[in-house]
Amino acid sequence: MKQESTTALFPEGNKLSADWFTGEAFLFPLITQDKNNEFSAGSVTFKIGARTNWHTHPKGQVLIVTEGTGFYQEKGKQAQIIKRGDVVNISENVVHWHGASATTAMTHIAITNFLQDVQVTWLQRVTDEEFNHVNNNLK
Ligand code: MN
Repeated sequence: MKQESTTALFPEGNKLSADWFTGEAFLFPLITQDKNNEFSAGSVTFKIGARTNWHTHPKGQVLIVTEGTGFYQEKGKQAQIIKRGDVVNISENVVHWHGASATTAMTHIAITNFLQDVQVTWLQRVTDEEFNHVNNNLK
């Protein structure tokens, strides 16, 4: 029987704002922007059902899934299942969301580039209707 990893790579960190996240999502910061790094990096943990709002990044973002299974979806496209070990390279200004599924938690490292002082533009919530639609399409 395949052994699932039960040890998280990083601590959960602090709960993320309900303004931009639905459900229980947490951030453990890893790297902050500085004179050499035009990006920040952090480990984001999404409990079951948790997800970002729809949003864009002005200079793109890379996600590296470290635990569990969840979703990545670009507006107008079918959602992709993402799981431990998957890497997602998100282009600039693409409207998207990422998060857990309705039945599984997911943790990813997010590496997010800055354009001057901006790294994300938050949009509307991923509604329960949208989220359920993605989850129901799995079956
Ligand atoms: Mn993103």
